[in-house]
Amino acid sequence: MHELPVINTILNIVLDRARENRVTEIKTIFLKIGALSDLEEEWMQRYFAYLSRGTPAASARLAIERTPARVQCRTCGHCFELDLQSSETETCQSCGHNTYALVSGTGYYLESIEAVEPGQPS
Ligand SMILES: [Zn+2]
Repeated sequence: MHELPVINTILNIVLDRARENRVTEIKTIFLKIGALSDLEEEWMQRYFAYLSRGTPAASARLAIERTPARVQCRTCGHCFELDLQSSETETCQSCGHNTYALVSGTGYYLESIEAVEPGQPS
């Protein structure tokens, strides 16, 4: 259920930017979601379709890309990406220790918005 407030927030940002740029129709909304985020794309699409009705984003496509989880080694400070498909415990490529802190991978962010140019045949 927490996809709903997230989509609401994103849609508000998108509509604000559309107003600022006098955009009347939004084509694509590019979102990035961390690999460890529990936001589910299916629900995001459904809530988006529901909340965007009657707005310039009503026919927009939600393009969601998963970004890798990044961690920082607690021993040497080296940053690397976690391979979530791997069943083995990841170790630092620099010093070989396996204690690390999560740097990114749980959040989401709005990368860009593609608008339909006024007067362009769609
Ligand atoms: Zn290390």
